[in-house]
Amino acid sequence: MTQSTFAEIGAVLRAHQTFAVLSHVRPDGDALGSQLGLALSLSKLGKTVMVRNEDGLLEKYGFLPGGAFLQTPLGEPQDFDVAIALDTATQSRLGTATDLVRSAKIWINIDHHPSNPGYGDLVYIDPTAPATGQILFELIQSQGLPMDPAIAENLFVAISTDTGSFQYPNTTARTFEIGAELLRCGVDVGRVSQLVYESYPRRRAELLRELLGTMRFEAAGKIACFSLSLKVAADLKVKPEDNEGLIDHLRAIEGVIVAIFFEELSDGKVRVSMRSKSEKVDVSAICQQFGGGGHKLAAGARARGTLTEVEEKVLKAICDVIDCNP
Ligand code: 5GP
Ligand code: MN
Repeated sequence: MTQSTFAEIGAVLRAHQTFAVLSHVRPDGDALGSQLGLALSLSKLGKTVMVRNEDGLLEKYGFLPGGAFLQTPLGEPQDFDVAIALDTATQSRLGTATDLVRSAKIWINIDHHPSNPGYGDLVYIDPTAPATGQILFELIQSQGLPMDPAIAENLFVAISTDTGSFQYPNTTARTFEIGAELLRCGVDVGRVSQLVYESYPRRRAELLRELLGTMRFEAAGKIACFSLSLKVAADLKVKPEDNEGLIDHLRAIEGVIVAIFFEELSDGKVRVSMRSKSEKVDVSAICQQFGGGGHKLAAGARARGTLTEVEEKVLKAICDVIDCNP
């Protein structure tokens, strides 16, 4: 795989007219903010843009400028000049969003997942970037592409959510500089942060109460986990996006190195979400054993089996990596 330059990607963006801007299933703030930020910039450049992911715009992110771009259902397959995959570690994680693209002359892959194999014609993967939104800021700025308060707000949300509000170790001096730049472009940090971090539905707190009821510790407190069964999810009418960030309550406990969230799915699989607080424990490598991937300190997988079976297998895999003796 040869890595493209921003200049090469900028030239392709300028030279073509129709764009599909795609991202992964179960989108997070980085996926949505990146998609809408880039779409608004291309649109301002006079391009025709379609923005799609399998799930559409999550209710929680309904305030993002340009949200109307993100429609579900996907619509009929179409021909595009350029299709762009953002924040998506493997092509299969685009899910049904790929069905929208009947053909594209050029595929661009922009991402920050180290496990990204580099699919596509033009590839820009920077595993040191804490968010895809940060890469897009650099692309937009270096290529003189349109920037305005609406674009800035989307990129700010992308970066803020993927860095845990500028707290995770992948946050760099450059991330803060970009944050400052986005504020100068018109982002109201108090308003945006309240919308992102202080506007959850009550249902999410009720879910947290249930999850904490299942909380348990292994390996003398180095591993913490909790689980969500299909029954509890149905009783509480949980939406997939309610889960985002709940694992941080486990990560926040003193002595915990690995936090795990097990979620029973309706297809006979269990979604495993993992966080590590130590560079020495690479949870992406553990998740790869179960067909998943992600980053060293934040990763996930969908493993086949019952909740109990998957819990047992995953906990054993972690114990093989960290010292599980009490
Ligand atoms: P989360 O736990 O928030 O769902 O995901 C954490 C990280 O792991 C994200 O960067 C996400 O891209 C990655 N990830 C989550 N689930 C999967 C999966 O099933 N496969 C792969 N390859 N990556 C995943
Ligand atoms: Mn991301």
